[in-house]
Amino acid sequence: MKANENEEQEEKLYQSLRAESWQEFIGQEKVRQSVRLSIKAAKKRGEVLEHVLFYGPPGLGKTTLAHIIAREMGVNIRITSGPALERAGDMAAILTNLEAGDVLFVDEIHRLNRTVEETIYPAMEDYCIDVVLGKGPAARTLRLDLPKFTLIGATTQVGKLSGPLRDRFGMVYRLDFYSDAELARIVQQAAVKLQVKIDQDAAVMLASRSRKTARVALKLLKRVRDYAQVQSDGRIERGEVEQALAMLEVDDLGLDAGDRKLLVTIAEKFDGGPVGLNTLAASTAEDVGTIEDVYEPFLLRIGMLKRTPKGRVVTKKAYGHLGITIPKTTAEQMSLTGGD
Ligand code: ADP
Repeated sequence: MKANENEEQEEKLYQSLRAESWQEFIGQEKVRQSVRLSIKAAKKRGEVLEHVLFYGPPGLGKTTLAHIIAREMGVNIRITSGPALERAGDMAAILTNLEAGDVLFVDEIHRLNRTVEETIYPAMEDYCIDVVLGKGPAARTLRLDLPKFTLIGATTQVGKLSGPLRDRFGMVYRLDFYSDAELARIVQQAAVKLQVKIDQDAAVMLASRSRKTARVALKLLKRVRDYAQVQSDGRIERGEVEQALAMLEVDDLGLDAGDRKLLVTIAEKFDGGPVGLNTLAASTAEDVGTIEDVYEPFLLRIGMLKRTPKGRVVTKKAYGHLGITIPKTTAEQMSLTGGD
């Protein structure tokens, strides 16, 4: 199967497993409470919901929340993404097609280009857009009114959002990594939808290896299900989880081959670091965005990696986990800088 087809199939799986209501949406308590309250208040006043920005690493539920919000508000959701909107006209076409109250979900909103971004300022603030007609001295600007709508933006890199754009969101929420207990619930819930039986301790084990990320837990569940169906009677017990994850090279902390490659590269090629992001990307043949969005947040979170002004460094814990002896000079450096 081609990589693209694989990705498409996986995307379909996440859609079929998508939490559709607040009951099915597990964890993220603060975000849930605050969003639900705002929805209730907006409904009571008969107004549209304020614009919302969700940020955090991929797979934590930003898209899912946008769907739940639209459903709860009883409105349509239109979905697009920063890179898909190339010209101001692309944005204008979408905005002028919205119905009153609709949710417009813009994924990867930090990747909007400047002209498109400027089109949405008046749309967000005053529900109107300026369309330029003609060219040169004869050009005229026409102001079009839009229906009131809610923009929901999602980003993995909130730091890359311009100040003016960020300021136009009434609500800004950071999504947190999930606890193992929450992920075990997410796994159990998905298992019911997939009609596969999984023991509680197998679900807990799977959860503990899922990089604290809902999407990863679902992906691993799918792989383990395939393994259990081929190797045994289809029921997932601890043994199946252990064997399937060993086959997938997911270790006991949930690190996969990509995570380990990153850490080993810093430890061995760069004596533990510091190493700059671009150099690291070139040495590992990964792109900068993937390192920043996918690998780093989790490795930072579990204390395997640190960001310093001079670049990335691996920690003592990483050396221990990888089974690599810390070079003497690196150890001295660590004790001088208090880096562990
Ligand atoms: P993001 O947009 O942040 O990348 P998604 O919303 O696409 O993440 O979530 C990926 C998958 O994980 C979806 O199938 C979604 O239903 C599931 N998921 C995410 N967060 C939760 C949650 N809190 N409870 C249950 N399932 C979740």
